Amino acid sequence: MTAVEITDVQATHVHADWTWTFVRIYTDAGVTGTGESYWGPGVGDVIEGCERLLVGEDPRDLDYLRHRLFEGTSATGSLAGKTVSAISGLDIALHDLAGKLTDQPAYRLLGGKYRDSARVYVDCHAGDQGEYDDVYSPEAYADTAEAVVEAGFDALKFDLDATKRYERDAHNRHLNAEAIDYKRRLVEAVTDRVGLDADVAFDCHWNYSGDSARRLATAIEAYDVWWLEDVVPPENLQVQREVTRSTSTTICAGENRYRTHGIRDLIEQQAIDVIQPDMPKFGGMRETVRAAHLADDYYIPMSLHNVSSPLGTMAGAHVAASIPNFLALEWHARDDPHWDDFIVEDPIIVDGEIPLGDAPGLGVTLDLDVVDTFKAPGETLIDPE
Ligand SMILES: [Mg+2]
Repeated sequence: MTAVEITDVQATHVHADWTWTFVRIYTDAGVTGTGESYWGPGVGDVIEGCERLLVGEDPRDLDYLRHRLFEGTSATGSLAGKTVSAISGLDIALHDLAGKLTDQPAYRLLGGKYRDSARVYVDCHAGDQGEYDDVYSPEAYADTAEAVVEAGFDALKFDLDATKRYERDAHNRHLNAEAIDYKRRLVEAVTDRVGLDADVAFDCHWNYSGDSARRLATAIEAYDVWWLEDVVPPENLQVQREVTRSTSTTICAGENRYRTHGIRDLIEQQAIDVIQPDMPKFGGMRETVRAAHLADDYYIPMSLHNVSSPLGTMAGAHVAASIPNFLALEWHARDDPHWDDFIVEDPIIVDGEIPLGDAPGLGVTLDLDVVDTFKAPGETLIDPE
């Protein structure tokens, strides 16, 4: 193929299950690529501001463009935050585009596949999210778990911090004996109910002190959960490492970190048992594959945090296919009736997995009519081509 040049970059925010930012890159070949960035105010502006780094470039130079985008925005924030989210969406769009130009699925561009499908884990809620002060019973958690397993999934995750009822103070990060025992009973109810039919993880959203985290992790050791996630805040590596080393409970973190540089210390100091980046925020497909290989040098598995639309989730599935140490990809939209509508194709999740075919690029097509319906106030719809 002769030279292809990027001609334009556009972005549109939507408000649906989550706020999603879709990215489209246009070429003089008439072929486009579509990506998605993790939400955040102004991400679309950063995406369109990166147009200067891409116009005139050949979209097949994937690694060079990843490098160019990070280098070209280092003064304005490419270490972490929305600049990295913006670049992540651009990188996904470039893999979709380069795949279409070369008639290859995106996983081929990432080095080829280890597996034919990506295992999905379901993010679950035990009760009405509008009543956070209520105490959800262990039985309610177990009922939800059972329903999700009956729907064909063998991997799930619950919030272990959905109520503060047993926490005496909302700010001091301390769990007393009553709070820890309540959480232990939730874990017991779910793991007893699903038995060996599902792997179950529990998320704590950075809420607890090192001491409380260690006591909680120790209290649930007998249930051998899939992982206990983000049990301490993300800033202090030493605290994270001490929690992980103190317990036989599997400890996971990583969704608030950016780029391979941002998780290198976590991995090299073995401060986590499972690393979990959010690909459309972490730096994109190529950067996440780089991070997976770094983690694999330390025999650490990678799961993928994910709150994306079907398009971003499909991009995650391509990453999942092309790394050795993949565990599972999150699906955050069990309660969203519109989630599947955002792509033209049939639902991507089949029997608890996302199968990967041979279609070029991501293999899914954003439904612009649905994007138009849900676009945020003041947004302009990206051009079709
Ligand atoms: Mg989490």
